Amino acid sequence: MLNIVLFGPPGAGKGTQSERLIEQYGLVHLSTGDVFRANIKGETELGQLAKSYMDKGQLVPDEVTINMLRSEVMKHENPAGFIFDGFPRTHAQATALDAFLATLNTEITVMLALEVQEDELKERLKKRAEVSGRADDADPAVIQNRIQVYNNETAPVKSFYQEQNKFTAIDGIGTIDAITERLFSAIDSI
Ligand code: AMP
Repeated sequence: MLNIVLFGPPGAGKGTQSERLIEQYGLVHLSTGDVFRANIKGETELGQLAKSYMDKGQLVPDEVTINMLRSEVMKHENPAGFIFDGFPRTHAQATALDAFLATLNTEITVMLALEVQEDELKERLKKRAEVSGRADDADPAVIQNRIQVYNNETAPVKSFYQEQNKFTAIDGIGTIDAITERLFSAIDSI
């Protein structure tokens, strides 16, 4: 299996690039943010809980997120692999993911980390707010909080994969096509 962690701060282009990668490699796209948003739309209990954190730009608690991720993975029979988009976001999530994939006799192949500086992220999120309809894109204070949470809690997850020699940084600045090419060539050289 080809299991990719597509990593990067909010607004780095993870969702956009995931669409390209699933097409090219026949992978299952698993975005924890998308699953939470679907639950909010469906007015589930999980959605209600997730919303209370997402609206403030905070992380949904690890236990809830990890359980949800596990059940999403189990929905797929004989997948070619997964793109984990927006997961893991904490060290505890990364550890849990490794342990869970081991029970399925598989593992993370690579973490591809899209690198984009903060002023560019804010610009992109501001533009995305006009079309995404996402409450957490519309409020500059929430955006600031999401970037801060990324820097404090999520960015350190890189070292978890660096220690396993599974980390590759990708320049996330440029056209969507150019960034896709960088991702393809990183994957093809594994
Ligand atoms: P995203 O769509 O990846 O930008 O995620 C939107 C929001 O969903 C985040 O700001 C968090 O509140 C929540 N979320 C998504 N993925 C996770 C995760 N792996 N751990 C905790 N919270 C998450």
